[in-house]
Amino acid sequence: MDQLFIDTYHRRIHKLRVSLTDHCNLRCQYCMPVNAEFMNHGSYLQPADYTTLIGELQRHGINEVRLTGGEPLLRHNFQEIVHHLRSLNLPKISVTTNGLLLHHHLDFLARSGILDINISLDSLHSHTFQRITHRLGLEHIQHNIALAKAQQFRIKVNMVVMKGVNDHEIYEFIEYAKMQQVEVRFLEVMRIGYACQQQSHWFIPAHELIEKIKQRYELIPVPSPLDATAFSFQTSCGARIGFIASESQPFCGHCSRWRLSADGILRACLLKEEGVSLKNTTPEQRQHLYQTLLGMKPYLRPPEVHHAMYTIGG
Ligand code: SAM
Ligand code: SF4
Repeated sequence: MDQLFIDTYHRRIHKLRVSLTDHCNLRCQYCMPVNAEFMNHGSYLQPADYTTLIGELQRHGINEVRLTGGEPLLRHNFQEIVHHLRSLNLPKISVTTNGLLLHHHLDFLARSGILDINISLDSLHSHTFQRITHRLGLEHIQHNIALAKAQQFRIKVNMVVMKGVNDHEIYEFIEYAKMQQVEVRFLEVMRIGYACQQQSHWFIPAHELIEKIKQRYELIPVPSPLDATAFSFQTSCGARIGFIASESQPFCGHCSRWRLSADGILRACLLKEEGVSLKNTTPEQRQHLYQTLLGMKPYLRPPEVHHAMYTIGG
């Protein structure tokens, strides 16, 4: 083991979000425009690069990797990349996906021991789903969630709550969490990238949602690790729900994550566009870059950032 990554504010970095592509088959209105522009495939890291780079980071204490995007399941060599990562024997690999293509990969993921999947789903009604994502596919996603549950995957459903768009569905989502036995997590809309234009109209702080939910259900807190992004409750109706209150209760002070983009830029924070490019570097150069990055993680979140979350990896 090499020296652990401990940053300027004594946070130990041990998690890595890995964006496999910035492309997506949805166009969620808080994430990207309908005519979004994407990076050239030619700039992607190659499957073997992941073994080299993440293997190196692992020796500095990175022990959890979450594959994300854009939509990670759109990456044409997704399974090959996972094969490479598995050779590292990381204690945990997980995936965040919109779930549309999940049925093609469930058997493979089960065989690979990747059982933790976060699925984004912002509405249980096709009209609202289409309004949010500018695409069809709600039934496919619901079907894939049920398939994944039947195969014993641990599923968390992420719902970005937007005032006047889908906030009237929170009780339905709680019922859904109970029926499907999945944890539903309510996300505050973040002031990042494309969302900045509308964020103030959509934003509902988690504490308001909690007050509303408490009118109907008792909420019993569930302990979570210090560096967790979400805090969770068991409801008196038998559902498990969580909140990711990135805006009203930022968790930067305990953040343990770095992010690697599809084109090889390693960043210390989602809210910081600057990072270090690992492409075409030697191991010696990278050691220097890692040290630079340890000094680049902010302690407090900036109020608003305009770069795209789907490029960095959400
Ligand atoms: N495509 C995959 C998905 O949607 O799950 C993975 C990438 S997506 C960028 C990761 C997560 O970021 C999703 O749960 C999505 O809802 C969330 N997200 C994107 N933009 C957001 C914003 N402005 N505020 C809050 N959450 C956002
Ligand atoms: Fe695609 Fe995920 Fe962004 Fe929606 S949130 S547009 S599914 S990357």
